[in-house]
Amino acid sequence: MAIAQRAAPERAALTRGHTADRIRVLLDEGNARWRTFTPRYPHQDSGRRRALWEADAEHPFASVLGCADSRVPPEMLFDRGLGDLYTVRAYGQVPDSSVAGSLVHGVRDLATPLLVVLGHSRCSAVREAVTALRTGRVPEGHMGFLVEGILDAIEDVPDDGARDFLDACVRANTVHVADQLRHEPGLRELVHSGELRIEPALYSIKRSRVEWLGDRPEYRPGPDSAVPSQRPSDTP
Ligand SMILES: [Zn+2]
Repeated sequence: MAIAQRAAPERAALTRGHTADRIRVLLDEGNARWRTFTPRYPHQDSGRRRALWEADAEHPFASVLGCADSRVPPEMLFDRGLGDLYTVRAYGQVPDSSVAGSLVHGVRDLATPLLVVLGHSRCSAVREAVTALRTGRVPEGHMGFLVEGILDAIEDVPDDGARDFLDACVRANTVHVADQLRHEPGLRELVHSGELRIEPALYSIKRSRVEWLGDRPEYRPGPDSAVPSQRPSDTP
């Protein structure tokens, strides 16, 4: 489907020349301030509020899809302020049409060159999916939609009962969502043209640190890998 894509010079002007690499540096610097308890709280003063009101527009430099969990607000853990990050949050970062449409606005209309899919440790949404995987019982209604979405991401993660199984599932879900979005109409065109990079990352609640995941979670499913014992769809 054709999209009303902004011309490259116009996008470059909107991003103020920031490349995806440069934006990662800015986010890393902000996270370093956050985790060392030296935040600067940039762009949160009255001057910034007035400037944004007078501009009557927003020009965030990055888009973030994060979990709705109250412990992981992107603006705080990247030490940024008003107008800096275009943030969409959903429990477990599970994308639906509303989430995807919101992200298309962020990367197409607001021209953010980097979209961060931000998972986090001890995610209760992923924990619910792990429970469903092990018990064969998927919640009903909207919660069932979310759990099913995460189950698609974690079905190949070997479950040997280790304590870090939840962590492996969080990583797999985050990478899976990033890959889903790379194929999403409205996003994939920009990925293919090199104007958008979608990167999965993991925030550790314990360490307050953001880790970039690349495209591979820390497990290697293969012919000899353990298969999760039971899927909800396998149950009568
Ligand atoms: Zn979560």
